Amino acid sequence: MKKLPAIYKTLLHIYGPQNWWPAQTPFEMMVGAILTQNTTWANVEKAINNFGKRLSPEFIASKDNDELAQIILPSGYYNQKALKLKALTQWYSKYDYDIKRARAQDSYLIRQELLAVKGIGYETADSILLYALNKPYFVVDTYTKRFLSRLGFNAPNKYEDLRLLIEANIPADINMYGEFHALIVRHAKCQCKKKPSCGVCSLESECKKLII
Ligand code: SF4
Repeated sequence: MKKLPAIYKTLLHIYGPQNWWPAQTPFEMMVGAILTQNTTWANVEKAINNFGKRLSPEFIASKDNDELAQIILPSGYYNQKALKLKALTQWYSKYDYDIKRARAQDSYLIRQELLAVKGIGYETADSILLYALNKPYFVVDTYTKRFLSRLGFNAPNKYEDLRLLIEANIPADINMYGEFHALIVRHAKCQCKKKPSCGVCSLESECKKLII
């Protein structure tokens, strides 16, 4: 099997830069990371569009849970997600809703803070850390595990173990982290699907095709 940086280069060659995360502001990115839990990106976009120009931490802090749930209704699980958005905003208020102040916080400490926020697990925390706060944490999801396992990379089951293993095998570069995660998602949706299209995959000659 090719090493991870070589796999990254192949995916980048196939698909080009993905320029994630698709958001107008760092706070919109954070909101998107919560809304995307258990739903499609198309539904997240509908929910974000419902905010219009009002999407800000101040606006979310000023709304009650029911009003917020109505706005984010298209994203599904809207009552739970309204609570999560309120909790995220409460956490962000520690930094006066100032992305520069949040980015200046120690990486480990701010990750611990995010993981303590209601409704934020590893994947959501690391997405926010990487794409909004520019902290070097690789985002692992079910696509990552499936893709790497099929290739023949001995991918551990636990989130933290897999994240650390990937990080140990690629340069500590936030731009590469962001692109690589996005490219894995793209490849998992285009070719390395649940039922993979190996015959048209550029990685076929390298892949062990451990498909279960
Ligand atoms: S060859 Fe098949 S299993 Fe391997 S990465 Fe490509 S699509 Fe996935």
